[in-house]
This record gives sequence, C-alpha cells and structure tokens, in this order.
Amino acid sequence: MIISADRFLADFENLGMIGWVDGMGMDRPAFTPNYTAARRFVEEGMNEAGLAVYVDDVGNVFGRMEGEDSSLPAIYAGSHLDAVPRGGKYDGPLGVMAALEAARTIREKGLPMKHSLVVVGFTAEEGGEMGGTFGSRAFAGLLEEPLSSEKLAGVGLTPEGVRSSKADPSSVACYLELHIEQGPYLERRGIQIGIPTGIVGISRYEVSLEGEANHAGTTPMKERRDAMREAAELLAEWFAWTDTKDDFVCNVGVLALHPGAVVIVPERVDFTLEIRSLKDSVMEEAAAKFRSLLEAREKVSVSMKPVVWKGAVDLDPLLQDAVEKACGEAGVSFVRMPSGASHDANPMARITRAGMIFVPSVKGISHSKDEYTSPEDCARGADILARAILEADRSL
Ligand SMILES: [Zn+2]
Repeated sequence: MIISADRFLADFENLGMIGWVDGMGMDRPAFTPNYTAARRFVEEGMNEAGLAVYVDDVGNVFGRMEGEDSSLPAIYAGSHLDAVPRGGKYDGPLGVMAALEAARTIREKGLPMKHSLVVVGFTAEEGGEMGGTFGSRAFAGLLEEPLSSEKLAGVGLTPEGVRSSKADPSSVACYLELHIEQGPYLERRGIQIGIPTGIVGISRYEVSLEGEANHAGTTPMKERRDAMREAAELLAEWFAWTDTKDDFVCNVGVLALHPGAVVIVPERVDFTLEIRSLKDSVMEEAAAKFRSLLEAREKVSVSMKPVVWKGAVDLDPLLQDAVEKACGEAGVSFVRMPSGASHDANPMARITRAGMIFVPSVKGISHSKDEYTSPEDCARGADILARAILEADRSL
C-alpha cells in the first residue's frame, strides 16, 4: 500500500465516534451540531496535512493542495460527511477521509502531481428538506431556481449563499469518490473493488385502477369489477415479463385499497411503480410496456402518472480505466458494475468527469447501524483512491 493504513484507519475511527450512539447508530444529519463537529474534525486534519482549507456558504468543506502547474484545473476527491438518522459511519465519511489520506501520502512521499488536488466533504447528501445531494448540487449549480428562502433559512442558509457556492466547472478536472457499495454484489463474489460504470436513473409512477365497489357476499364473481383482482393480475403479468429482463429493476413498494373493508369488493387500487436502470431509454421502454399492460385491463378505468424522473448518469471511461490500472498496480481483484444508489458523483458528473470506487458492504447492509466494511477493505479502497488520483493526474 502506498497510504499509511494505520493512520488512515485511526482517523476514520475517530471521525466515526462523532455523533455515534451505542445501540442506535449514527446521529449526524447535516446542519446539526454533530455534523459541524465532524466537519471541524476534518478541517483540523486538512490543516495538519498542510492543505488550504475553506468552507463554502452551504457548508461544503474543501482542502486544497497545490500542484506543479496551478494553471490546470484541479482534481477533486471526496464524498459527504452527513449520515441518515440511525445510519452507519461508513456511508460518506470513508470517501472524505480516504481523499485526505491520499493527499497526505502524496505530500509526504513527494509524489509528483501536475494538477492541484482538492479534498472535499460535501454536506446534506442524504436528503431532507432540500432533497438529496444538496451540497454537491449547489457546487455543480444544479439547484433549481427559484430557491426557497424560507426552507433555506430553516437550516441557516440563504439563496445568495447557495448561488455563491456554485463552482466554475472549468476549474474542475475531474471528481473521484470512494464509497461503500451498499449492496451485496462484491461480497457475494469475493471481489475486492467495484468500478461503477454509471449511476442508475430512477423513475416513479403513481398508478390507479378504478372498478366498482360492491357487496363481497352477494355479487357474482363474474360480474365484479374488482380493482384488486385486476391489479393482482396486471402485476403478475408485469413481473413475469420483468423476470426475462436484466437491464433494469422495478419495485411496487406502496399499495392502497379503497375503500379498504373486508366486506366490500375493492373499488380502487393505488400503487407506486418504481423503475431503475443505467439507461434512460430502458426506463422509458419499461414504463411503456407497463402502460400497455395497464391499458389492456378491460374491467377498470386506469391512470398512470409520472411523479419522479432522475436520469441515469454515465461515469467517465477514462477514470474507470484509471481505477482499473490502480487495481492492477496494487494487485487487487476488481469488477465493473452499476451503482444502484445515487451519490455526489451524480451531480458532479454533470459538470466534469466523474468516477467512483466501491468497497464491499458486509451482507450488503447500509443506512443502518449495522453497516460494516472491514478495516482491510476500507484501507484497500483508500489505497486504490490514492493510486487512481495519481493515475488520473498522469492521463488528464
Ligand atoms: Zn453516501
């Protein structure tokens, strides 16, 4: 390893104690005292490492190490410092502390870098009042106007502050993010590093089937316009079709029956359909297929309303290659794979080259106090990040 694994793990563990409550997990949402304490801890580490530290007006923290050619745009590396309520200590901070360790290693060993390196800890990735990836969307200039002064004031921010946090994309050469996988893919296959090729898009629809309420005892079966039975048959058909596909996943996670009584044939069924894929066109085709099955139901009137559309994001091929070379150099196993969760790399990919590195999540558990990645895997990920930064510096 080129990094100091012991130093990195000790610092990472110390950061993981800020906001940790035994038996409950991490209590460190953005815009809280615990969050500020965690950010201060990172600022201190950056200062000690000799980085130029600054915090923007939404609370993103940056530590900059000048490269040999300061006219070049900078390589950014990091992740987020906030956590979901009762979450773990790995989701986010791992990528920030690994980027800090990479900067320390490069400085200490005098490894040459043309580009400046900026270690970044984004704020409010996990959502809340202003939606997910808030800090990185502010940085990328993707927060939609008009900004709500009221909502921002609730967390001590202003629209002017948000606007001033927007970066000049020409000052950014690329963005690299180490993150836990948050799924079981790597662990099940015994592979050490995942190289995400893209971040899946998410689309959601509100679907309704409306039939006729009637007496559940006296209405002959063939005369019923049973919305629940129609929905069940529709979903059976749909899932039989989706089982033959491997380029998207879908979920019906919420379903409600109306009026919802034991003795009444259901008049209406409402449910949400969620489709995720690495390709927008695949999400569109799947939704069209669902609509055709839905509209073929004869005994009910139907509706299907799009409510969420977040396009899929391709991660940069050059950075995927840089991570792959880093893995080859370090002699670790790797696989290219999609990312099923969203990350700060998503907004960043809209303004610059973005790449990610995944390390295994034990049992695929995340957003839980039981989230765990072994110290060996954490250190290995940080080492690959440091090598990939150097590789990107050479090839950009
Ligand atoms: Zn995360």
